[in-house]
Amino acid sequence: MQEFDVVIIGSGPGGYVCAIRCAQLGMKVAIVEKYSTLGGTCLNVGCIPSKAWLDSSERYHQVVKTNQIHGIEVETNSVKLNFEKMSERVQKVIKQTCDGVKFLMNKNKITVFQGVGSFVNTHEVKVGETTIHGKNIVIATGSKPGSLPGIVIDKKRIISSTEALKIPGGRPESMVVIGGGVIGCEMGSVFARLGTKVTLIEYMDQILPTMDSDCAKELVKALKKEEMEILTSMQVKVVENLGKKVKITFVEKSNPSALKTIESDYCLMAVGRIPYTTGLGLEKADLQVDERGRVPVNEHLQTKISHIYAIGDVVRGAMLAHKAEDEGMYVAEFMAGQKPHINYNLIPGVVYTWPEVAWLGASESELKQKNIPFKKGSFPMKALGRARTSEENFGMIKILAHATTDEILGVHMTCPRAADLIMEAVVAMEYRASAEDIARMSHPHPTYSEAFREAALAATENRSLHI
Ligand code: FAD
Ligand code: NAD
Repeated sequence: MQEFDVVIIGSGPGGYVCAIRCAQLGMKVAIVEKYSTLGGTCLNVGCIPSKAWLDSSERYHQVVKTNQIHGIEVETNSVKLNFEKMSERVQKVIKQTCDGVKFLMNKNKITVFQGVGSFVNTHEVKVGETTIHGKNIVIATGSKPGSLPGIVIDKKRIISSTEALKIPGGRPESMVVIGGGVIGCEMGSVFARLGTKVTLIEYMDQILPTMDSDCAKELVKALKKEEMEILTSMQVKVVENLGKKVKITFVEKSNPSALKTIESDYCLMAVGRIPYTTGLGLEKADLQVDERGRVPVNEHLQTKISHIYAIGDVVRGAMLAHKAEDEGMYVAEFMAGQKPHINYNLIPGVVYTWPEVAWLGASESELKQKNIPFKKGSFPMKALGRARTSEENFGMIKILAHATTDEILGVHMTCPRAADLIMEAVVAMEYRASAEDIARMSHPHPTYSEAFREAALAATENRSLHI
């Protein structure tokens, strides 16, 4: 039987990053992946393909809708959308990225086993006919799309994000998206920009319900400009595949007796993802999942069997690729006897719409709930020179700082390039900067980053300069 210092089950950003870090630390590593390509949800059917679609659709949208203001004039009927070519490019990007992970496995001398990994006991994992032994084992099996009770994702008309990333036969005419979370907003935006009639149905009274409400309002404005219809406070009752169409029956929560229906080409279910442990044989290692299907772990990401760890979407916390990566590195370093650390409060969230949305740390409601006194400063992009030069003067940045110490406690932004701007907040908060610290730092002009400084100036004695 082949023996390894560590056997990692699952090759998503949690698993493959863990494998690389273990190899760097001198361990003999095996990684087990049930699919023929490495990279997990993130590279195959998640972050990478959705961002590739978001980029292509934004370029198309600029040509047909927003470039005119710059004096770039095209006859709308001369612009051709080659949906198949767009889709092929996405598949090429996926392949390049997954091949990159394969290269990294070879480079780091990590042994890859293809097949479903299943526990035999607390030290052995079976992959097909082969059984391998690990001194340590890391469960990094990720998550899969969830649905609502009674609604089955048939992958034909009732689809998840996985199918939405590879729709056959050209751009759909219409799509209903159930769930106004991250996937609903991002994938809804892709299709709305390409000209699909998109209706987004959300159960709560706000899309991205846990997000700062000012940021959510700015995002709603942007999505409506893309002609997306947004229905909040709705309860979906039934979704039926009619063959060539799908019928969605729903009610307003305030008027539950009045049934409403919409027919569309596709219904995208985007109501959350669930941890994935099917086929893993957890019981053979004396492990159980919790009431939400997650593998329970302690603060060191150890299960109750101390040499079996679990990381990423399959454990508690945000379902984000960078969180999975951080946990992968943590576990590798912990196994090597180091004292790694993850600051879970400083894992940024991003929605890659345009404008982008990004946030970090506490929200206003969390601070109120915890009775933490705070002050806030915000700055609108319409007052920023750099944003005007690009005609992208929408959205804002908000900083929340402690009322007496001035330490930055939360940052929320809906604005162009928020995904990159949020990193200034991560560095600032990791080093426990005050709003005054940021207000006194030179920011290059003209850049979007000046809005961050202006928000800090606003948070400290209301002294924004450009408003
Ligand atoms: P996964 O990436 O899910 O990988 C788990 C792997 O384990 C899979 O390859 C699976 O096949 C394999 N596996 C499972 N069971 C077994 C078994 N028994 N044997 C062998 N192999 C097994 N996050 C971001 O941070 N930014 C984004 O922009 C972003 N965009 C997203 C867009 C979409 C459409 C989706 C669906 C998700 C997105 N996410 C994003 C979330 C991100 O993809 C996940 O948080 C991340 O992939 C989790 O990593 P993981 O390693 O825990 O699991
Ligand atoms: P989500 O949790 O972000 O959003 C689900 C949405 O569905 C919520 O707004 C929720 O209120 C709504 N909902 C729940 N029940 C409903 C019902 N009965 N009717 C209507 N709406 C309902 O989940 P998601 O968008 O499916 O994404 C899954 C995971 O993937 C998330 O945890 C997210 O972190 C990750 N992801 C991240 C990114 C990113 O980082 N940019 C992109 C895509 C996905």
